[in-house]
Order: sequence, then C-alpha cells, then structure tokens
Amino acid sequence: MIEDDYSHVKKMDMSRISLRFNSSKNEKAFKDYYYNNSYKASRNAFLLTAILYSVFGFLDYITTPEYLNIFWSIRFIIVVPFLLSVFALSFFKIFKKIWQPLIFFVFIIAGLGIVIMIVILPNDFIYSNGLLLIFFAGFVFIKLRFLLASIAGLTSLFLYNILAIYFGEVDINNVFINDLFFISAILLGIFAAYNSEISDRKNFLLIHQIASKNKDIATINKGLEKQVEKRTELLNRRNEELLAEIARRITMEQDLIIAKEKAEESDKLKSAFLANMSHEIRTPMNGIIGFANLLEEAESKEELNEFIDIIIKNGEHLLSLINDIIDLSKIEAGILKISKQSFDLNVLTEEVYKMFLMDPNVKDRNLKLSYENGVKDKEFIITTDRLRLKQILINIINNACKYTDEGSIEFSYEIKGNQLHFKVEDTGIGIPDEQQEYLFERFMQVTLNNTPSREGTGLGLAITKTYLKMMGGNIKVRSKLNEGSVFSFYLPIEIKKQNLDNV
Ligand code: ADP
Repeated sequence: MIEDDYSHVKKMDMSRISLRFNSSKNEKAFKDYYYNNSYKASRNAFLLTAILYSVFGFLDYITTPEYLNIFWSIRFIIVVPFLLSVFALSFFKIFKKIWQPLIFFVFIIAGLGIVIMIVILPNDFIYSNGLLLIFFAGFVFIKLRFLLASIAGLTSLFLYNILAIYFGEVDINNVFINDLFFISAILLGIFAAYNSEISDRKNFLLIHQIASKNKDIATINKGLEKQVEKRTELLNRRNEELLAEIARRITMEQDLIIAKEKAEESDKLKSAFLANMSHEIRTPMNGIIGFANLLEEAESKEELNEFIDIIIKNGEHLLSLINDIIDLSKIEAGILKISKQSFDLNVLTEEVYKMFLMDPNVKDRNLKLSYENGVKDKEFIITTDRLRLKQILINIINNACKYTDEGSIEFSYEIKGNQLHFKVEDTGIGIPDEQQEYLFERFMQVTLNNTPSREGTGLGLAITKTYLKMMGGNIKVRSKLNEGSVFSFYLPIEIKKQNLDNV
C-alpha cells in the first residue's frame, strides 16, 4: 500500500533512467495512481487511433489501389481489430494488470503495420508521415510509460531499418532521410515522455506528501480537540465544584441564620422561663412563709391544722416543681441519657394501674380506672427505657386524674410493627381547641376550672414530649371541652418475647 509518510521521499529516490522509485511500495502506489489517472485517456486514445487508422485506409484506396488487399488486411484484419480489442478490454479489471505490456505491443504492431507499408512503397511520403503519427500517439497519447514507449519506438525504428534493407527496394538515401525524421521524432517522443513521467511522479509524491501532512494535521487537530475536551471537562468540573461550594456556603449561611435565630429564641425562652420559674416558685414559697408566720396566731387547733396542711401542700408543690425543673435542666444540659433495658411491659402497666388506684383524685371522685394490655401474654418482654416510659405514663395518667371530676380513665397500649402505641382516655374537663397546640410548651397551663386539686407546674407535658422525642417517639392530643381528652403517644421498641397469636 501507499507509504504513510512521504515527506522523506525526494526526486532523487527514483532511478534516472527507468524513473522507477527505489521504494517498491512507492512504485506500486505510483502505478496504481498512474493507472487511475490514465486509463480513461488511454481508452479514448485507442478509439481515436483505431478511427484514424481506418480513415487513412481511404488514402490507400486513392494512392495505392494495387496494394489495397495487403494494406487493408494490415489495417482492418490486424491493427484496427487489435486496437478495438484493447479498447474493449480497458473496460475490464484485468486491463489494470496488463495494460502497459499490452499497449507496448499495440505500439509495435501499429508501427510495424505502417513500416510494412513504407517498405512496400518507399517513395510514398504518406506512410512515413503515418509512422510519425504512430510515434506521436505511442509516446504521448496512449499513456505508455516512458521506458516501454522508448523501447517500442526504437523497436519500430529497428524493424523499419531491417525490413527496408532486406526486403525493400533498397534506396539508402531514402532510408537515411526517413531515419533522420524517425530518430528525431523518437528523440522528441522520449524527451516528452520522460519529462511528462517525471512530472507525473513528482505530482504523485506531492499529492501524497499533502495527504500525509493532512493526516498529521488531522492527528494534531484530534490531539488539540482532545485537549480542549479535557480542559472543558476540567472547567466544567471546577464549575460544578464551585457551584456546590456556593450552595454549601449558602446552606451554611442559612444554617447560621437559623442557629442565630434559634439562639436568640432560646435566649428569649430562657429569660421567659426564668421569669416564669421565679413566679412559680415564689407562689408556693409565699404560701409557706405566709402561713408559717400565721401559725403562732392560729386561734384554734383546726385552724392550726389547716395552716400546717397548706404549708405541707405548698411544700409538696414546690418539691415537684423543683423536680421538674431539675429534669428539664438535665435534658437541656444533655446529661439525661436514655438507657434501654428489657422488661415485662404488662408488669409495668399493672404497677402504674395499682399506683393510681391509690391516687386521692381517683378515690375521692370515685373515678373508674381501667387499663388494657395490647398483648395479653403473661409476659411481654420489650426493650426500651423503662424509667422514662413509666414517668411518661405517670405524667399523662396523673393529668387525666387531676382534670377529670367524674367518669372514667382508661389507658391501653397496642403494638404496630416495632412501635408501641399508648393511649390515655379520660372523661374530664377537656381542653379548648385553641390551647391544644401549646399544650406541650413549658409552663403551659390551661386557665379553666382550676381548683386547688388541679395545681400543677405546667412542665409535665413539656418534659413528657422531650422524653418521647429523645426516644424517637412523639405525642398528640385529641380533646373536647367538657367531654374528655385522649392523649396518645408512640415510641419505637424492640420486642424480645411474645406470643404472636395474642397481638
Ligand atoms: P400541669 O402540671 O399544669 O398539669 P402539664 O404540662 O402536665 O402541667 O399540663 C399542662 C396543662 O394541660 C395543664 O395545666 C392542663 O390545663 C392541661 N391538661 C393536661 N392534661 C389534661 C387532661 N387530661 N385534661 C384536661 N386538661 C389537661
């Protein structure tokens, strides 16, 4: 095939005489190139030469009717059919392989035909001119390459001389004059064919040099394109990173704003909490100190007992307030940790139930207290923080007892997947709709029907909700004024031992 790189191929890389390239690869490629560029012109040349060869037969008819048979035989039986055969053959693939030797023979045969005519009629200049035409066609027209064309031309000259000397009516002058013309024509032909082939070969090299340069340029372009692609990719990536960084900073900024707002909010809440707390503490403290001062002035034993009772109640209230506050501050300080253990849930509900059977509110108001276990096994072992769960239950059931004057209180649980759902229902005083959403905030106390037996800290539900959140659960309330309330909460648990049929 064609050599890839032609940049090194110079004019010197070919033989000065045969004009062949030293590199056989290049020579083969040139032959292909030359054939592709020439075969159509060669084909047309054969057709035209055949026509001219036939047309000149008319001259035979006019000038040499006595040799018409021989001459026309040469023309129409040998040369013209040969020319036409080559013309026809040029349409087939095989032509590419044999075209140069073939047209070499055509040159010689056509030349020989005319040579014979010259030998028969040595004094007729028409045929000498005919041979000149054959030289012209052979050297420049039929695309025979320089070397073969030169050999064919010289062979024709040689044949002429041999035939003229041995068979013709020998007129050396005539032969000499003809030779002069023929040799001149052959020299001109050789010169023309030589230069034309050199320029063909140079063109061939040039074309392939250009092709090779183009290839180089294409490779460089490809490399550049790849580089540009890589750079673009890098730029895009950097852009994306920058955008991500910007987004990260924006979120960070927003987080900071939120954190700042939260800090401000919590600062406000803390101030409010402190104000509230001092108020809440001062009330029972005032009660204790006030009634302690009055003790000496009590006029009867009953009055003294009443004062002592008030002091004890206020003391208890103060204690539970301080306990709640301590719990809250532990939560806020992050000291309070959830510690899970496995225990029997049914034992816990039983314990809580028994505890509230003794509750003064339940006893005094004759409330019906009941509970229902969602899992009725003897044992239902779960894993969660037992202490916190008990505290939560006590807070909610204690509220139910506090805020129910008559009727019943029922608490129950059920298991949904790996969640424990508790419900505490009462038929108590209920909570107005507009207050329900603030119920779990600190110091939230609904100011309705508050009696001494309903004294509270307003912290119980806030603590309850915080505990539940810490344990991954939550709480909500459904309540209707004067009809009752339902507090329901859930928390995730691990179930250790359970008879599944009873769930
Ligand atoms: P407190 O110590 O005042 O009970 P909580 O945080 O436990 O504080 O409750 C907040 C407020 O929610 C109570 O003051 C009460 O007004 C209302 N509340 C809580 N539970 C019930 C209930 N079961 N029925 C009616 N009101 C309730």
